Amino acid sequence: MTEDGRLRFVIVGGGPAGHAAATAAATLGARVTLVEDAVVGGAAHLWDCIPSKAMVASSLRISAIRNAARLGLSDAGHVNLDMTRLGERLDHITGTLATGFVDMLESQGVEIVHGRGRFVDATTVEVGGSRYPFDAALVSTGSRPWVPEWAAVDGQRILTTRHAYHLAELPEHLVVIGSGVTGVEMVHIFSSLGSYVTLLVSRQHVLPHRDAEVAAVLEEDFLERGVQLLKGSRAAAVRVTATGVVVDTEDGRTVSGSHALLAVGSVPNTEDLGLEAIGVTMRNGFVEVDEWQRTSVPHIYAAGDVTGQMPLSSVASMQGRKIGRHITGHEMVPLDLNRVSQAIFTEPEIASVGLEEVDAAAAGRKVRITKVPFAANPRALIQANPRGFAKVISDPATRVVLGGTVVGHHASELIATIALAVQARLRVDVLVETLMVHPSLMESIVEAAE
Ligand SMILES: Cc1cc2nc3c(=O)[nH]c(=O)nc-3n(C[C@H](O)[C@H](O)[C@H](O)COP(=O)(O)OP(=O)(O)OC[C@H]3O[C@@H](n4cnc5c(N)ncnc54)[C@H](O)[C@@H]3O)c2cc1C
Repeated sequence: MTEDGRLRFVIVGGGPAGHAAATAAATLGARVTLVEDAVVGGAAHLWDCIPSKAMVASSLRISAIRNAARLGLSDAGHVNLDMTRLGERLDHITGTLATGFVDMLESQGVEIVHGRGRFVDATTVEVGGSRYPFDAALVSTGSRPWVPEWAAVDGQRILTTRHAYHLAELPEHLVVIGSGVTGVEMVHIFSSLGSYVTLLVSRQHVLPHRDAEVAAVLEEDFLERGVQLLKGSRAAAVRVTATGVVVDTEDGRTVSGSHALLAVGSVPNTEDLGLEAIGVTMRNGFVEVDEWQRTSVPHIYAAGDVTGQMPLSSVASMQGRKIGRHITGHEMVPLDLNRVSQAIFTEPEIASVGLEEVDAAAAGRKVRITKVPFAANPRALIQANPRGFAKVISDPATRVVLGGTVVGHHASELIATIALAVQARLRVDVLVETLMVHPSLMESIVEAAE
């Protein structure tokens, strides 16, 4: 404790988890020190959520211009891509957010220490020779892209997402390895910007852990925009050649391109933190936590990607906020990971919350599934975006909403209504009786609940 009786809380890692925990704990009276070795805002701001969605925003604008003829607008204009301006825009957004975060934290009395933190014992973090004693600590050091041993990433031709935003020129032919969320978002971005894209899909459809009908809508869009899908293709090696790159697949195929981008998962940033030496239990490099986000050393917490629970910025922030409350002795309800809403920012967008059809089927759980296509929605037709559907999953006995999926324009916003219903355990009847604006995409959500 400090001399004035305040709890000393040291946070290592200033991404969404660390930042949210700092704000919550400082507001509730703790003396907070936040250690960050790159940018406050974390990988989420520097390389992940923010730059990727800024690229998506540019991509969507290009698509809208290219597709203007669908709205009766011919010769809508030719788009010139300026990669330098694109990169500057991302830097501006990241810089603005980082400055705002630092100002906000400092106004809340949070001490920000720049450097690499390391636990020297169970009550002290060391940063560049200085020691910071704590009563409670948080490990929120995030994760980084996994690079398999068969890929020599050089940041020029063979890339991870961390190299994707500041390229000198647009890849002529990008080979994307990995068809999970990150992979398909990269396909969407670069195919919209004008690259020819080949996607290596290791299973039978993209987004292997999602409902097949969701993947089908996305694949239809990819094929329409000329993306080459190589199904059942798992990369075995990737190398730079005189003219570009070559990817060898496990089934003996060879794919040539100008650049390759790896989107095959991530690894936690937990090396050199000294955690095992002070008794923190780890599993494959991830920090193990209980429902209160406590590690096996109870006054040391972990949140965000380091826990390997659900690698989402929104989850990391919520965990951080809850830890801020818990360490200061305030009521805290553990986060229910079964009610998290998430989105994939492709075109159409894909958003889901709670139980998905594929999970219900795997668990043999009886559910009521109701679904309507956007093709019947007036607003979707007006906007020339009729692709996709809204699906609501409920309990057949109680009619309580258990989950939902929206595939379509603005799905990442539309899912909010279903998310609220899941969180508040509303019955489908409440949705059905809610009067929505006409014409609106939201009408399909209500209709899907019927
Ligand atoms: C391409 C891509 C797009 C994504 N888009 C989305 C999205 O749209 N929505 C979403 O919800 N999620 C998205 N994610 C996931 C999201 O980025 C992560 O879940 C989120 O960043 C995790 O937050 P975090 O606080 O755990 O860590 P991070 O954001 O990784 O921050 C950790 C911080 O800790 C610092 N650090 C590490 N070690 C030390 C040390 N020893 N000392 C001091 N500091 C240290 C790092 O420099 C970093 O700043 C995306 C991921 C990727 C790869």
